[in-house]
This record gives sequence, C-alpha cells and structure tokens, in this order.
Amino acid sequence: MRIVLVGPPGAGKGTQAAYLAKNLSIPHISTGDLFRANISQGTDLGRQAKSFMDAGNLVPDEVTIAMALDRMAQPDAENGFLLDGFPRNVFQAEALDKALTADGLHLDAVLDLEVDEDEVVKRIAGRRVCRNDSSHVFHVTYSPPKKPGVCDDCGGELYQRDDDSEETVRTRLEVYHTQTEPIIDHYREQGLVVTISALGKVAEVTKRAMAALEEGGRAA
Ligand code: AMP
Repeated sequence: MRIVLVGPPGAGKGTQAAYLAKNLSIPHISTGDLFRANISQGTDLGRQAKSFMDAGNLVPDEVTIAMALDRMAQPDAENGFLLDGFPRNVFQAEALDKALTADGLHLDAVLDLEVDEDEVVKRIAGRRVCRNDSSHVFHVTYSPPKKPGVCDDCGGELYQRDDDSEETVRTRLEVYHTQTEPIIDHYREQGLVVTISALGKVAEVTKRAMAALEEGGRAA
C-alpha cells in the first residue's frame, strides 16, 4: 500500500505512522526525520533545512521533493510506503502524483488525522522525543516515561524538539492551515481521503486507522 498521512503538528502522525507501518509491513518515511538526521550528521542538506525548520516554516520544495523521492526509490519502499509529513503543499502533492504516475504507480489512501487546535498545543508543549528513535514519543503529562528524561523503550535521552516551542507551534499551525490543508481537497478529488479522529489512546487511534484504511481510499 502507498499511503500519505496528513494532520496538523501534534496530531500524532509520527506515533501512528510507526505502528501502521509495522502493521502493514511498509517503511515509514518521514521527511521531518530525514531532515533531522541530516542536521545531526551535519550535511549540506541539514544546514539548508535547519533555519526553515527552527522558524516553523517549510523547507523549500526543490530540496524536499528531491530528498523524498530519493528515499521512496530505495528497495525497501518498492511495494509500498507510509509517508509522514510529505507532501506538505499542493506543489509537492502534484510532484508526487507525477513521479508515481511515471512509474505506473498510484497512492492507495490519504489518512487524515483530525484533532482540535487546543489539544494540539497541549500535546506539543509536553511532547518529549527520544534522541535514538523519533517514533519513541512521550508526553510529560499524558504518557510520561517511567524515569523523567529517559526513554522507556531504549534508554535514550528524551528531549524537546527545537520547533516544539509555543511560538513556533503557532507558526507551524498557520503553515498547516494555509499550505498543507489544501492537499486534502486535492486528494479528495481523487477519492483517496479517509478522515479519522486522532483523539483517544494511541492503540485506539491505530485500530481506528487500520479499520478506516480497510474500508476507505482507492480500494473501497
Ligand atoms: P515534522 O517532523 O513532520 O513535524 O517536520 C518538521 C519540520 O521539517 C517542518 O516544520 C518543516 O520545517 C520541515 N519539513 C518536514 N517535511 C517537510 C515537507 N514535506 N516540506 C517542507 N518542509 C518539511
């Protein structure tokens, strides 16, 4: 299956993507994670992306699209992938459509995670992520680690992302509404969108998502 996950920052895309990708046996491809890996490795790409990310803005399309398509061309993504954070505007969505069509492929579903704005701000302000694996996500109140600052899954250090500050979150939400939300209409025209509520326990949302993917999207 080829799936795109959309939803505002803090909807739980990364957390859900990790579970869904495992359930569906496809790789989880997160452009945010790819950028962060480049930043921590000190690559040119990382240097180019950092200032945009820190401000809560989108990294320019040219750089982003090339990086995402390159990752999708890796052998592990041959039979499908779960895209998390890409595409993030209509231009990127059209570039993805074009690249897939050129290979005789298509998306199967666009899973839209819905969550209200107050909840998003609460989730992000308390979010703590493991330095070893960004799918190990905790929340200081909602899902605290057993030992503060230490990942329950692997013992890694938990930290707050630079772009999770309240001010940057506001910019990221605005970017989401103005630039990313229009891709939902773009994909709705293709009959691909399935919308679920992202509220509730992680496992409940995963169950809801799996059921929605079975019923919705292109296969329905
Ligand atoms: P995420 O981890 O998905 O929340 O992404 C973190 C940041 O990486 C975003 O706020 C953007 O600055 C950048 N980023 C990730 N994916 C994209 C994309 N598809 N297009 C442009 N910038 C992106």
